[in-house]
Amino acid sequence: MQRFVADRMLGKLARWLRVLGCDVVYLKRATEEEILEKLQEGRTLLTRNRRARSWLGKGKVFIVRDNDPRMQLRDVVKGLRLPVLDGPIFSRCLSCNHPLDEVRRDEVREEVPEYIYQTQEEFHRCSDCGKVYWPGSHAKSMRQQLREILKD
Ligand SMILES: [Zn+2]
Repeated sequence: MQRFVADRMLGKLARWLRVLGCDVVYLKRATEEEILEKLQEGRTLLTRNRRARSWLGKGKVFIVRDNDPRMQLRDVVKGLRLPVLDGPIFSRCLSCNHPLDEVRRDEVREEVPEYIYQTQEEFHRCSDCGKVYWPGSHAKSMRQQLREILKD
């Protein structure tokens, strides 16, 4: 799976790519050194800044043209031919990009709403920020949106 660094205008795109299982570092306020460091790690820079072409000699750069995060996602997926829908969907924390660990249901009893505890079987936790995730209506609607965005 390709790894990315997204710059400040692309927070929503970064989240969508994380839904798909991509490793995306989102830099809200990045210095040139930080961006360069991420490029050198082999990450592709996603940016709306047209002048970022000057980074091209230093690594991979993808200039995002659209304003709408959904269209941006489509452009990136098509443009870079990401093998997404077969990929590890919902395997990363949407807030901090950390891979999720599977946790036993009884371990999260105190942390999730009672209704969720009663109705869900599978839970995952971000080992970095501690956020708990479960499939359910949210994941279902995101999957649906993804199919819409990425159709054909
Ligand atoms: Zn997290």
